[in-house]
Amino acid sequence: MYILVINAGSSSLKYQLFDMPLDKPLCTGLIERIGTNEAFIRHKILTVDPTQTIERQEAIADHSAGLQQMVELLSDAEIGLIHSADDIKAVGHRVVHGGERFANATLITPAVKETIKDLFPLAPLHNPINYQCIEIAEKTFPNARQIAVFDTAFHQTMPEYAFRYAIPESLYTDEGIRVYGFHGTSHKYVSEKAAAWLGKPDAKLISIHLGNGCSITAVQNGKSLDTSMGFSPLAGLVMGTRSGDIDPSVIFHLIAKGYSADAVNNLLNKQSGMQGLTGLNDMRDIRKALEAGNQAAALALDIYAYRIQKYIGSYAAVLNGLDALIFTAGVGENDSAMREQICANLDFLAVYLDSDKNRVATGDVREVNRSDSAVKILVIPTNEELEIAQQSFDLLETA
Ligand code: ADP
Repeated sequence: MYILVINAGSSSLKYQLFDMPLDKPLCTGLIERIGTNEAFIRHKILTVDPTQTIERQEAIADHSAGLQQMVELLSDAEIGLIHSADDIKAVGHRVVHGGERFANATLITPAVKETIKDLFPLAPLHNPINYQCIEIAEKTFPNARQIAVFDTAFHQTMPEYAFRYAIPESLYTDEGIRVYGFHGTSHKYVSEKAAAWLGKPDAKLISIHLGNGCSITAVQNGKSLDTSMGFSPLAGLVMGTRSGDIDPSVIFHLIAKGYSADAVNNLLNKQSGMQGLTGLNDMRDIRKALEAGNQAAALALDIYAYRIQKYIGSYAAVLNGLDALIFTAGVGENDSAMREQICANLDFLAVYLDSDKNRVATGDVREVNRSDSAVKILVIPTNEELEIAQQSFDLLETA
């Protein structure tokens, strides 16, 4: 069954085509700088050896034009993988915000679309673009089922004492102000892999997703109990350009100093985190700066690791025990020095990293703890697209 997965951002579009239940995509694609004359497309075909990559730069006015390019590449007479759009049986959409309405992958109906629309105020940057891509995909693939997989869904299992803020109840009931959490598809994917690796379905896990955005989740019995992102993805860990946790009074102080609300929003989301501390947001560049003796980079890495350690301690308490730490996403999977720094001071939990394994280990699930560590330390590559394809496939199989 051909399932196309679409992950749309404000100016980008990522897609993967799966032939489910096979877990390797047939092709992957990325379109960047949509809305400009210099949009960039990279379309990789993985069914041939060596893989074939088509790259080109051209004007792409909007997401609709981007999806059209994708369909042309997918059904190209020479390099195409499908004959026509009708070969696609389902399109799985990553939708950022599902509010309290969606705890699972959901078949998209007019009512579901209305609910996604109702949630625009909670995710003003993401849900409108997700909605738009659903509408385009409905037209482009009229015979396919459209399925939404929400970033927030996995965290709907959090208990109320974890997801409520200590503010007047009406703000929760009338305005929906509560912790939602994000990166749920990734946390679900890696925590299921970890539980399978441990052979323990009720494992107590801390899943640490360190990409451009970063979040950490306490998982037990396959359920999210608490997570570091909150009402929005701004809360929690130090990220590429987001501050993570900060005293809300800082916002009022800046506004009193003459900043507009928009300026503070931009400051905390786009100019903070590693970017604010070092002038760089890419961890590889920050590592290079560290090697060159940059003191700001050294301090920023200390702050980044320290914040994660605080959350590990806190979530070990939430779980009242710990079977494994999971590292995933760009930094979590690749930055062995960061894993080393985070695990260095966790002796009280009997977390002991094996430095050699940590540096060299490869594979789908990498165990990088010492044999005497009470807690496993696992490096597990995340794969949100595959998770979306699997959830879409399972939904159709059981429907
Ligand atoms: P996104 O959240 O956009 O999906 P990724 O999961 O791809 O992001 O993670 C991007 C981050 O991973 C960047 O900060 C990048 O520098 C970092 N990263 C990727 N490879 C490495 C590496 N080898 N060492 C350190 N950091 C890395």
